[in-house]
Amino acid sequence: MSQFYDGRLIATVGDITEFEVDAIVNAANSSLLGGGGVDGAIHRRGGPAILEECKQLRRHSLPKGLPSGRAVITRAGKLPARYVIHTVGPVWQDGRHGEDDYLEACYRNSLDLAAGHAAATVAFPAISTGVYGFPKDRAARIAFAAIGEYLYRNTVPRSVYCVFFSPDDYQTFVDEVSAILQAIEEQE
Ligand code: ADP
Repeated sequence: MSQFYDGRLIATVGDITEFEVDAIVNAANSSLLGGGGVDGAIHRRGGPAILEECKQLRRHSLPKGLPSGRAVITRAGKLPARYVIHTVGPVWQDGRHGEDDYLEACYRNSLDLAAGHAAATVAFPAISTGVYGFPKDRAARIAFAAIGEYLYRNTVPRSVYCVFFSPDDYQTFVDEVSAILQAIEEQE
């Protein structure tokens, strides 16, 4: 486990479905009707109540699905969290199709929704870095910057967890962040 931004950002290894936080973030697909990876795990462990709420959202406000970069919130069924924030990361193409901006928007919009629901603690998976193929080092830099910017400007959420499924992915994040912090230190 590593801490950054005065302890408000915690990077760790684990299964996000086990996190007892106010909100966990789901790397969903635009259908909101479930998928593989972290999405599959959240629906499996959370039970059918989450899918039912997602279907309602599709019927009433998102007939075409949730666009990349946006986020919606549901309750969390049987999960220990209170809410699930569903966001749709960009599918990696070549980095020239706005992928960075969409990924940044996922973090920002998810944090905005969390704050709007007074969620003090939020856990993120590494959005887009699985099936969607976003390079993990680049995604780490974007996540770190986007979360940092949000925490700097806002007091809620108080704490944000970046949850990595594998120790390798966690290490990639820590290495990227260390390089960023060192570059900042050398500039000062
Ligand atoms: P995407 O389609 O956005 O790439 P994936 O679910 O395929 O979403 O992968 C996103 C990240 O979530 C990957 O780094 C994957 O290793 C990780 N992941 C998968 N299952 C879990 C889980 N239960 N808890 C935390 N992270 C997970």
